[in-house]
Amino acid sequence: MLPVVALVGRPNVGKSTLFNRLTHSRDALVADFPGLTRDRQYGQASYEQRQFIVVDTGGITGDEEGIDTLMAQQSLQAIEEADVVFFLVDARAGLLPADQLIADHLRKTDKQVFLLANKVDGIDGDSESAEFFSLGLGNVHQIAAAHGRGVAQLIQSALLPL
Ligand code: GDP
Ligand code: MG
Repeated sequence: MLPVVALVGRPNVGKSTLFNRLTHSRDALVADFPGLTRDRQYGQASYEQRQFIVVDTGGITGDEEGIDTLMAQQSLQAIEEADVVFFLVDARAGLLPADQLIADHLRKTDKQVFLLANKVDGIDGDSESAEFFSLGLGNVHQIAAAHGRGVAQLIQSALLPL
């Protein structure tokens, strides 16, 4: 059995971009339009000589109605299925209420959670990601999914024990 990594976070933080990088594909829909990936999407990832399954999700907004409810349910289910959760936040947008909501849920699970501050390309990553420590999920890993920065290091530390 390959380890399963779930990508969760509110819409538009870069989950599908990271999915595509990890699976070397363009399968996941990436767009500026938030919430485009509505279902869970599974891919086989090969990165830093590690093989694993990665699960992309539609995102959690915090005021779920209609299709958003479904997206949130898919995300919760993906967390249940995962060995490791990558929780993405947007270092450019800063800390939002939906991030807090997701963090509240993740602190209650017994899954191993890695908090990823994405989009640190071209900004001061250290200062822009500092506020995410308040989510109470430990270390904040700075990445730029679109460019690959920090991803190899992340995979090494997240998957080494599995
Ligand atoms: P999702 O809704 O969480 O799946 O987010 P997407 O992967 O669709 O990305 C949302 C937007 O953020 C797109 O316009 C991406 O190009 C952009 N994006 C994703 N990763 C990065 C990054 O590392 N740096 C920057 N600057 N933009 C990014
Ligand atoms: Mg997406």
